[in-house]
Amino acid sequence: MRHLRAGVAGSYPTGMKITGLKVCAFGECHELSHGRYCQKHRGVDRVRQTSRWKRTRLVVLRNNPVCEHCGQDFSMEVNHIVRIVDGGAEFDYDNLEALCVACHKKVTAQQARGER
Ligand SMILES: [Zn+2]
Ligand SMILES: [Zn+2]
Repeated sequence: MRHLRAGVAGSYPTGMKITGLKVCAFGECHELSHGRYCQKHRGVDRVRQTSRWKRTRLVVLRNNPVCEHCGQDFSMEVNHIVRIVDGGAEFDYDNLEALCVACHKKVTAQQARGER
């Protein structure tokens, strides 16, 4: 087994604190920041905390009680089809889709990789 060189920044597990920095809590993002989200994703967090978003989200879930992706599970989460960080409309129903937890995870991972 080789000795690890001191001072070399190796890989670190998600959520681990490094001198006060945390890994961004947004999906697959691995940026480090002092908050819960990196600079890029902080705007997303702000939108999600507004009462307007909470209302919008409830309307989308009420209009689409079943996941729009698999059509098999109850929709629990609302996804931005064009992400806010990519300039998508935050409260536009045309840019929102109701997904079950599993599909939402899948879709946001795809979006993070730029596959959608
Ligand atoms: Zn991030
Ligand atoms: Zn689904």
